[in-house]
Amino acid sequence: MKYLIIAALLASVGLLIYWRLRPYLNVARRVFNLFREARRLTRPDDTAATPAPRSATHANERLTRCASCGTWLPASRALVLRSSPATYCSHACLERSAGNERKTRVGRQ
Ligand SMILES: [Zn+2]
Repeated sequence: MKYLIIAALLASVGLLIYWRLRPYLNVARRVFNLFREARRLTRPDDTAATPAPRSATHANERLTRCASCGTWLPASRALVLRSSPATYCSHACLERSAGNERKTRVGRQ
């Protein structure tokens, strides 16, 4: 019976110590995570995830077709008219297309 009381007392004391140390343990864990994060940021080559997004965005770039000559080109390099959804690869194609449009309009009248 005496041993049981001692065991219960030790358990409660251990629990109390753990309860008291819990905030410090949390802080220690946070500091450890911070160090790990800092190491990851200083050495970005370690993670295989960093080069992936760049190549993904490059590969996902939308291709548009020139309305005049039919050449496929990246959307970032295409000439886009505000008045129409058509895209062109160069100013020459844009002018040629505008000329054709004017001609067909004249022909219809
Ligand atoms: Zn073109």
